[in-house]
Amino acid sequence: MSAYLDHAATTPMRPEAVEAMLPFLTGRFGNPSGGHARAREARRALDDARDQMAEALGCAPGEVVFTSGGTEADNQAVHGVLARQAAASAGRTVAVATAVEHHAVLHPVERAGGRLVAVDRRGVVDLDALAAALGPDVAVVSVMLANNESGVVQPLAEVAELVRERAPGAVLHTDAVQAFLWLDVAALAAPAALVSVSAHKFGGPQGVGALVVRDGTPVEALLIGGGQERERRSGTQNVAGIVAMAAAARAVLDDRKALVERVTAMRDRLVDTLLHDVPGVAESGVTGVAPDRGHKLAGSCHLLIDDVESEALLFLLDDAGICASAASSCASGAMDPSHVLAAMGVSRELAGGSLRLTLGWPSTEADVDAVLAVLPGAVDRLRRLDR
Ligand code: PLP
Repeated sequence: MSAYLDHAATTPMRPEAVEAMLPFLTGRFGNPSGGHARAREARRALDDARDQMAEALGCAPGEVVFTSGGTEADNQAVHGVLARQAAASAGRTVAVATAVEHHAVLHPVERAGGRLVAVDRRGVVDLDALAAALGPDVAVVSVMLANNESGVVQPLAEVAELVRERAPGAVLHTDAVQAFLWLDVAALAAPAALVSVSAHKFGGPQGVGALVVRDGTPVEALLIGGGQERERRSGTQNVAGIVAMAAAARAVLDDRKALVERVTAMRDRLVDTLLHDVPGVAESGVTGVAPDRGHKLAGSCHLLIDDVESEALLFLLDDAGICASAASSCASGAMDPSHVLAAMGVSRELAGGSLRLTLGWPSTEADVDAVLAVLPGAVDRLRRLDR
């Protein structure tokens, strides 16, 4: 028995994406910046992919900047706005972000000496704290659409309204990397001037993504050189990857609604059964007697397990063929205490027993059954060893 429940880390490519990509790895290899037939063929494919991504992201084709993934898009957003504002000497020098952002946002903001905004116990941004952090000195505000650890979705429309009121000169960026598979990003991210996505989270290949840069947004390019992507991101485009990303995005648009329904039911069965069968288990960000996971992504199950070390639990799960993770997968295997859980007020001790099980587009009831067959026994075994 084996099961993959780490789709927030990366999810397999959709068959449509693989099929779309293959010709560009073989015969259709042209450089889209060239002037001959092969180059024009690649350019046409790139243009079509740009149109498709624009539709999926709710922007004009010219506002799509292809990147090497979510990390680059996030770095470009934060550093790019700061750099442009610094060059303009407009007095807007501060970056603001929530304390639960992915490190691809958090580290650039911290490096720039920015302000981090608190979240509540559910993991939702504290709007009063955000208001207090905003002012005329703010250049960029970055609030993710959905969190990679907890799956919590942020109220971006309310955030945007506050930014308009309190820091009208600031640029709003949202990291929609985890959101795109599950949510209507074209609508929900509409108030943001900059929007990051990454193909490998929704059925495209690793190492390719996009940043929406709405027209008129003041951003400086990080990568300079050949002037590709209308001078906003130099470097020969990853045509095969981009074509595959666009095919995956199309597939997402075609079946997002059905996927969300199907996966929500599976996720609820998984969580409800574990909460019932395993003592000392809680869900991160879910409070109250009648638990409400309406503010979480459909595929997200994030548990806090008393008296268990994540590392040991993951080892037992892995041994039983279950791929899962503790928090995000980006801490290079090191079990650092999660900054997301700390910001949500979870004690270090409880955070030490966190388990992230994330479902994705290929997940089946059999995956849920496999976890339910293994996890309660693994927790029990670790607790008995500890005594
Ligand atoms: N932002 C979020 C919310 C993520 O979950 C991730 C990946 O885990 C990234 C950014 C980075 O994306 P990439 O892996 O494409 O660099």
